[in-house]
Amino acid sequence: MSELPPCDAFVDGRWVPGSQRFSVKDPFDDALIAEVTDSDDAMIDAAVDAAARAFPGWKRRPGPERGRLLAQLAQRMLSAERRLAELCTRENGKALKESIAEVRYAASFFSWFAGEAERTYGETIPASQPGQRLTVIREPVGPAALITPWNFPYAMLTRKIGAALAAGCTIVAKPAALTPLSALALAQLAETVGIPPGVINIVPAADGGRAGGRLCGAAAIRKISFTGSTQVGMVLMRNAAADLKRVSLELGGNAPFVVLADADIDAAVSGAMVAKFRNTGQSCVAANRFIVDASVADTFTTKLCASVARLVVGRGLDPDVDIGPLVDDASVAKVKRLLEDAIGRGAKVLLGAPPDGKTRLVAPIVLAGITPQMQLWREEIFGPVVAIRTAADEADAIAQANDTEFGLVSYLYTQNGARQIRVAEAMESGMVGVNEGLVSTPQAPFGGIKHSGMGREGSRHGIDDYSNLKYIATRIG
Ligand code: NAD
Repeated sequence: MSELPPCDAFVDGRWVPGSQRFSVKDPFDDALIAEVTDSDDAMIDAAVDAAARAFPGWKRRPGPERGRLLAQLAQRMLSAERRLAELCTRENGKALKESIAEVRYAASFFSWFAGEAERTYGETIPASQPGQRLTVIREPVGPAALITPWNFPYAMLTRKIGAALAAGCTIVAKPAALTPLSALALAQLAETVGIPPGVINIVPAADGGRAGGRLCGAAAIRKISFTGSTQVGMVLMRNAAADLKRVSLELGGNAPFVVLADADIDAAVSGAMVAKFRNTGQSCVAANRFIVDASVADTFTTKLCASVARLVVGRGLDPDVDIGPLVDDASVAKVKRLLEDAIGRGAKVLLGAPPDGKTRLVAPIVLAGITPQMQLWREEIFGPVVAIRTAADEADAIAQANDTEFGLVSYLYTQNGARQIRVAEAMESGMVGVNEGLVSTPQAPFGGIKHSGMGREGSRHGIDDYSNLKYIATRIG
């Protein structure tokens, strides 16, 4: 079994135990994994102070040097892949093969931003007056508060830490209470590569509202980067206004998965399996609403049900398992509520059955006959539920896809090139997968519009969220 990282707060390069601790349990069977320090206000303040003290030195380091440390961190993650993956599966529940994929994906953000640290270019602007030189440089915004959810405990953190450190910011991270161990394992690796004390601080806490509020409210914090629910994101943005802190928000989604009449149906089914079932459906980019042209709905549904029926449900650590447990009882209760509402309003169950609520293992379910009045059309399901509605034509599919206040990602299947561009451009979301069920990659800007948030992570644009542009006008003659 995977060895545990130190289960304390990581502040100023030291592991700091607290008198209060909280339990981290295996979602599969509630077995106790660890008792973790519940960072109190004094520890959070100390972490912010440490990040503030470390900031000037880290900012002054040449970008390529910061990048070298990030590259080493990526290597350490990959070398420890198995141990990190098992830890993630134990606290999050996801299938081990998905945890391995997550560790690789998470490490790829360190590699990517190791390169970007060398390329934080400024610009020179042609002046309109003689004797003037106009230049623009990038400066790190300052110590950053990073708040992350439980569903991708490594990747959501490395996507932020990689960009922040590359830009020259120091950080204090507060991971989700359900999955603090993955974050602490990252801090342990950071120690071994020689990232200076105070550059990375991790403050696990049982009460996200209290600890997150204290952290984000600290005067020395100049930037807040949050990944989580829309509801909490709105609270953070309101609070950040009081001190005009920079804010990036990666929030909830309600992704449409559109299959048009001329789609390659086998490709659409393969894409749907990835877009829907990664992490047992508990992903912000999970396909939430399947919108299928009526002319191909029967074929798509039949083929999809055949693939879904082959998924193996069970304990994530079992190497054959595809679908691990949902993360907690509240998640099971939510899926149950959404299914009861949909079935009560006339949805037809084509495969599976609603959970009885006695276990966190929820077998995949396929529903047809979905209507916009059903709650699962409006809310993130965050579970292994496929909800299918038919569309009359392209225009109807676009209208249905955009019928949501969210706008993180949309998926589109069609073989017609002009249609691919036309529909992708009409979709109201920050990202679109065209004949592609998995859009996330460190090279591309990840992020949403509308209630899915603001700011971009990954890609060369990821650095923007952690830097200020400084313009310097110099009289040279
Ligand atoms: P959540 O909003 O409940 O919690 C996220 C984090 O915020 C946790 O660390 C939590 O402790 C902390 N928190 C809670 N209340 C807080 C407060 N008042 N002030 C400061 N911090 C607070 O979300 P969750 O249930 O952990 O995660 C699931 C949600 O995250 C889903 O909505 C999902 O779509 C979203 N998500 C979005 C992305 C994205 O990139 N857009 C990625 C993953 C997850």
